[in-house]
Amino acid sequence: MYNPSSLKAEEFINHEEIIETLAYADANKDNLELIDSILEKAKERKGLNHREASVLLACDNKEKIEEMYALAQQIKQDFYGNRIVMFAPLYLSNYCINGCVYCPYHISNKHIARKKLTQEEIKREVIALQDMGHKRLALEAGEDPKNNPIEYILECIKTIYSIKHKNGAIRRVNVNIAATTVEEYRMLKEAGIGTYILFQETYHKESYEKLHPYGPKSNYAYHTEAMDRAMEGGIDDVGLGVLFGLEMYRYEFAGLLMHAEHLEAAHGVGPHTISVPRIKRADDIDPTAFDNGIDDETFAKICALIRICVPYTGMIISTRESQAVREKVLKLGVSQISGASRTSVGGYCDEEPEEENSEQFDVSDKRTLDEVVKWLMEMGCIPSFCTACYREGRTGDRFMSLCKSGQIQNCCQPNALMTLKEYLMDYASEDTKKIGEALIQAELENIPKEKVKEICKENLAKIEQGIRDFRF
Ligand code: SAM
Repeated sequence: MYNPSSLKAEEFINHEEIIETLAYADANKDNLELIDSILEKAKERKGLNHREASVLLACDNKEKIEEMYALAQQIKQDFYGNRIVMFAPLYLSNYCINGCVYCPYHISNKHIARKKLTQEEIKREVIALQDMGHKRLALEAGEDPKNNPIEYILECIKTIYSIKHKNGAIRRVNVNIAATTVEEYRMLKEAGIGTYILFQETYHKESYEKLHPYGPKSNYAYHTEAMDRAMEGGIDDVGLGVLFGLEMYRYEFAGLLMHAEHLEAAHGVGPHTISVPRIKRADDIDPTAFDNGIDDETFAKICALIRICVPYTGMIISTRESQAVREKVLKLGVSQISGASRTSVGGYCDEEPEEENSEQFDVSDKRTLDEVVKWLMEMGCIPSFCTACYREGRTGDRFMSLCKSGQIQNCCQPNALMTLKEYLMDYASEDTKKIGEALIQAELENIPKEKVKEICKENLAKIEQGIRDFRF
């Protein structure tokens, strides 16, 4: 039954295969010979399959775990350098007709304030985001064909791209909306979206059905096959994710990797990103009611293993996680983080009174974008506001093959430095600016090609003079 290139959910995420994988992992968790051979294979940087990965996840030998962490750090460094891409979520509407039991937007929650932004309100939100320095957004909305039809989402995207306030611009809009049809994915592609993001929530079908008791999202196969329809609609950058805490993490981890293997087998391109959200407290939601919560150590191990198993896939961590947890996993392979996020509808402009709460979940990292940028640089990371790849047509397999050849470094490093320079010129505090200028000077040396380095220096000088939006 298990068939990674099948287009049927239950064949590419095959329950029996996962159960066998977990049994194989249990049987081999102390098999040091096998573990060493898997780690050797991982050092080739071509990734690992779900079986090999599950053995490493089951292994609790401290020394071997340290080796996994060291390898994750090394792979992160080789593929992503010390760059971290920045983004912010923008909640458009929390109207929803689904029954997801972990999400406060579920239709039977009668006390949450229901809000939907008008185009005028979107302008205000986007200007607030641009004034912080954001260039890349992830749009979020509940599923409600009456209140949030595709036409509404498309109109919002158009509005967002059209707003040019001072030197600000949103240059990449990623979209996290409910699973939809090939036709609607095609419309999103035509509207110029970056990545289409959809979290599976859980790969365990039986649990999925209990956790999504009614509404369109209750259809496991339709949800699980969404990325195939997105790709058929022409979107070749898709973002996977699991909501950790809903089901046994080892099951989810195997499922997530099987999904990545499926995309590669069926479409020739793996996922562009993987997100690793954990359940948070929210209106009407108590995370302790879910039995499968994972501690920070397990969470870090999962992040490190994702980095090792799918080296070319970006990894995203949101402000659901605290500064301390983010600090830990940044080293282990995370490549994108959000900053200064609001999970309420309209939250960037207006502080909500308690009785009008529309938040999706509590944010742990509440720092400003300037604080996050400064913190990253103090740890030796380069905050990047780059959006160049999809604007230059480097998506899907084109992006992956540039990644695999190492050529991408000649684009990413200068693009990170030039967009950081824009941020420093337009939005940073004096302190942040000082640290950033020194970092840019030092990091120029890490651009591999001399010619690219020279052009980058010239562009940095032009940014000083007020010109914006350079890219390789
Ligand atoms: N309605 C779309 C869908 O169904 O996929 C959009 C996604 S929703 C706005 C974004 C994500 O937030 C969900 O996919 C879910 O994983 C996550 N989420 C929901 N409730 C959460 C909670 N209590 N804590 C943390 N994350 C949560």
